Amino acid sequence: MSATYEVENRTAVITLNNPPVNGLSHATRAGIVDGLKMAMADKIVNSVVITGAGHAFSGGADVREFNTPKSFAEPTLHMVIAALEDAQKPVVAAVHSTAMGGGLELALACHYRVATAGAQIAMPEVKLGIVPGAGGTQRLPRLVGVETALNMIVSGNSVLSEDLAGTRLFDQMIEGDLMAGAIAFADKVADVRPLPKVRDIKIDCPNYETFFQQARITVSVQSANFPAPEKCVDCVAASVSMKFEDGMKVERENFLALLQTTESKALRHAFFGERAAGKIPDVPDDTPKRPIKSAAIIGAGTMGGGIAMNFANAGIPVMLVEMKPEALDKGLAAIRKNYENTLKKGKLTQQKFDERVGLIRGTLSYDDIKNADIVIEAVFEEMGVKEKVFRKLDEVMKPGAILSSNTSSLDLNKIADFTKRPQDVIGLHFFSPANVMKLVEIVRGEKTANDVLATTMALLKKIKKTGVVSGVCDGFIGNRMLDMYTRQAAFLLEEGCLPEQVDKAIEKYGFAMGPFRMGDLAGVDVSWAIRKRRIAERPDMEYSKIGDLLYEKGRYGQKNGGGWYDYKPGDRTPIPSLLVSEMIINHSKDIGVERRKISDQEIVERLIYALVNEAAYLLEEGIAQRASDVDIVYLTGYGFPRHRGGPMFYADTVGLSNVVVAMGKYALGRHGGFWKPAPLLAKLAAEGKTFN
Ligand code: NAD
Repeated sequence: MSATYEVENRTAVITLNNPPVNGLSHATRAGIVDGLKMAMADKIVNSVVITGAGHAFSGGADVREFNTPKSFAEPTLHMVIAALEDAQKPVVAAVHSTAMGGGLELALACHYRVATAGAQIAMPEVKLGIVPGAGGTQRLPRLVGVETALNMIVSGNSVLSEDLAGTRLFDQMIEGDLMAGAIAFADKVADVRPLPKVRDIKIDCPNYETFFQQARITVSVQSANFPAPEKCVDCVAASVSMKFEDGMKVERENFLALLQTTESKALRHAFFGERAAGKIPDVPDDTPKRPIKSAAIIGAGTMGGGIAMNFANAGIPVMLVEMKPEALDKGLAAIRKNYENTLKKGKLTQQKFDERVGLIRGTLSYDDIKNADIVIEAVFEEMGVKEKVFRKLDEVMKPGAILSSNTSSLDLNKIADFTKRPQDVIGLHFFSPANVMKLVEIVRGEKTANDVLATTMALLKKIKKTGVVSGVCDGFIGNRMLDMYTRQAAFLLEEGCLPEQVDKAIEKYGFAMGPFRMGDLAGVDVSWAIRKRRIAERPDMEYSKIGDLLYEKGRYGQKNGGGWYDYKPGDRTPIPSLLVSEMIINHSKDIGVERRKISDQEIVERLIYALVNEAAYLLEEGIAQRASDVDIVYLTGYGFPRHRGGPMFYADTVGLSNVVVAMGKYALGRHGGFWKPAPLLAKLAAEGKTFN
């Protein structure tokens, strides 16, 4: 049963009951229509209340049925909406907790709406690259006003019900028991005729032409790569300038056209990819989980501090361990400062500030953390240091505690074997700044127990991170691919590009930051050290010496005022550097390469296909579970443009045979061996298949 039906006194109550968010599945839609029929047929019933069980009124479409025949099966949402609007007895939506997308559109079609405070009201369709498709763009402006509706529809962000209390959206805000209030309201309006329909409300927007002209300018600047926000404006404009039925046609046309765009497909791929990443084929959802009520972090440096904040933000007490009091004080002060900045910006209340700061404590003694349920090591990236820490943790931590490492590149299996409980050891690779970045690579060691994996997956959800499972290898999924990308970027410099040209081309493609700006942010010295280690391990690796030359000049990036770019003191704006250009041009001469003009297309192809080819190896080796996991790593951790769906999705849209052909062309140039297609890529391309 996805919707239940009861009668209380003279009011029929239809309750959506499709956990977790009362998504509008086929069965739920049918349940509503059946309930309405019963209510209309029952002579005793004089009104109807529709509400949602549990923690939502309705979260909208049931994503589990997305793109399945059930999502199109009758009664469609449009039919349900028509049945509600045309009902001959008043229908009151009793809104609480969440009313989003189709769920909100359902409420908008009712004759009346009542709500409790604290409900999240939203039309989030734009985040999937589409416009609301069931009348939302036409009814919402009639109820909350054009400006508020436009903001909600274009941003997709939610607004609290109490903030909309003064509008026509809610006929009454209910304090206390929602159902009692809703039934009392229904009883009060039971005999009012004619029944009010939102479609009949006349919109008042006297300066609408100027208003929408301005809105279009703002939206086109803010959403350069996405067609959907501009189409949202068109639809809301139609609600003002056209009759209701014609406005509905405009909405429908835009909805159907946007559904076919690559951008919308990419956004939907990202949405489903994030959900898929939470599934591990051999670790079922019902795997028992260990309770996590407290955490400890070893090392209060850049990463340790950020990681600690995630726990405090989720209400989990966390203890930071350092070796020296100065380092501990510095770490705790950095955390406090970070929270103070948020407080100053008004994004945190004083109470939350006190709570969060209060949940983070420091210590110099492992004795204080022995009862923690999980410990995350974030000390220096040296195997010797990690060994000492893990041997100590093995000695002091209570049995069953999860021991994890934030290592970016070291062998997790080795780290696990420093303990007598390798089954309890797992990698949790957070990204910097760890309190902001969504991605965490979950590194599954050879011996990591299934319940440890299941527990960390659930924990990451709780601290609002996107966890993606990776096997053990140098750099895991993200950084192993990044190595190929940055090596290719350096070859481009040798052959004719300057850093600013490479960065510009890839930023135009949509990346948040090009490889050289990113290099300056992460530190030229840091990448130099990683490169040295890799070359020692793989002496046959082909790479450009250009980064080493920069390092030898003492240009470490933003941290000392110059790297690939120059920087003015206190300013992070990159300024193309004459000295670096000269260094690059001379280097090309020294290695006998005749510089040539390189197109933006070549830059983008070489950088992206370098990622794609390495990812194909990762899939073959089983390091990455699925192509969409690779996409999620790049979308949430590396600034890959969301409207392109991630490197693998993008390669699919280009066509894998086209990718292989382009690689063949680049194989004729310098470092041709780099472009040997991974067997999986070659196979899929030959078979005309895709990664996703
Ligand atoms: P950091 O140098 O900022 O901090 C390391 C901290 O660990 C220092 O405060 C140090 O005093 C402390 N420490 C060292 N040995 C210790 C010990 N035995 N006991 C307790 N404390 C000890 O380093 P970071 O950038 O925070 O990196 C930490 C780990 O996170 C490394 O493994 C690194 O590879 C990984 N990582 C870093 C980043 C990044 O961008 N910085 C990103 C992902 C992962």
